[in-house]
Amino acid sequence: MQYQKRTFASDNYAGICPEAWQAMQSANEVHVPAYGADTYTEKACNMIRELFETDCEVFFTFNGTASNSLSLASMCRSYHSIICHDLAHIETDECGAIEFFSGGTKLLTVGGENGKVDPAQIEHMVHRRNDIHYPKPRVLSLTQATEVGTIYSVEEIRELGALTHGLGLKVHMDGARFANAIAALKCAPKDITWKAGVDVLCFGGTKNGLAVGEAIVFFNTELAREFDYRCKQAGQLASKMRFLAAPWLGMLKTGAWLKNAQTANERAALLESKLREIEAVEIAYPRQVNSVFAKMHQQLVEALFERGWRFYDFIAAGGARLMCSWDTTEEDVLQFAADVAELAPQFGKA
Ligand SMILES: *Cc1c(COP(=O)(O)O)cnc(C)c1O
Repeated sequence: MQYQKRTFASDNYAGICPEAWQAMQSANEVHVPAYGADTYTEKACNMIRELFETDCEVFFTFNGTASNSLSLASMCRSYHSIICHDLAHIETDECGAIEFFSGGTKLLTVGGENGKVDPAQIEHMVHRRNDIHYPKPRVLSLTQATEVGTIYSVEEIRELGALTHGLGLKVHMDGARFANAIAALKCAPKDITWKAGVDVLCFGGTKNGLAVGEAIVFFNTELAREFDYRCKQAGQLASKMRFLAAPWLGMLKTGAWLKNAQTANERAALLESKLREIEAVEIAYPRQVNSVFAKMHQQLVEALFERGWRFYDFIAAGGARLMCSWDTTEEDVLQFAADVAELAPQFGKA
């Protein structure tokens, strides 16, 4: 199905941004070696090292589920466990891929406000048992930005890093919307990754304007040992790797990775301010990146769907999730907000 207008369903409903498209186009004009032995891949890996200002191992995969599950599998053995928030994508939306690729590693979930893990609950989860019958906690997985559009501050990540390393755990970051977090925090990428104790980052590209592709960044290079074999076995070694790598290069060289995220975040900020003017609508979580969660009357949701708008209404019980992408325009936001303002009074509050 094709929609007439841009919708707020997800940032992966949007197309490919011009910078990524252009990079694919130029990679299409030559013959180069396959399986990642090409110069696009080499340069893209080097640009990621420059971006993070450190030596790190970089691998490109097709999607986020593969990035998360393969990187976590490389950090754990089958008898280990991974601590994550109970709303974490790896727990709720990856169809058991973590458990599958790791050969049985268990996810242990903790709570915490606004989609962020509560440090006290992590400590409790680790200390609650230390006998041989309990799956040994090995990794803390953080989502940055979170599933409900909030972000961990630099300080919060540093504290979580120190806590978990003190407990003998490694830190994994699901960064499907890492660029949006950097755009919001206005910090250097190193500040919320290796400098704060993150061992492995899954750096999202798809939702930020690529056709397809994520980068797995191992700051702890020991964990990347034989990772190339793991990718190949899992069907994640692209034979025409240049088409995963070249768009990354294009995005990083032009700064589009950050510009796209800034645009999406700004559109969400505008949307939030417009929706706050409407009495019957309530904002559910602090709006920090490119999504707005709004509590709306079910009949209002249906009336908006009827007008052709699309958004998810099943994420984290937060009501309507309105997601902006790199190509969302101010006009889109204003039109949507005008429709909500016009329709809302008939139905009242949720
Ligand atoms: C979209 C998303 C992913 C990746 O999902 P894929 O569909 O496998 O690419 C991972 N984590 C979070 C938080 C996401 O929003």
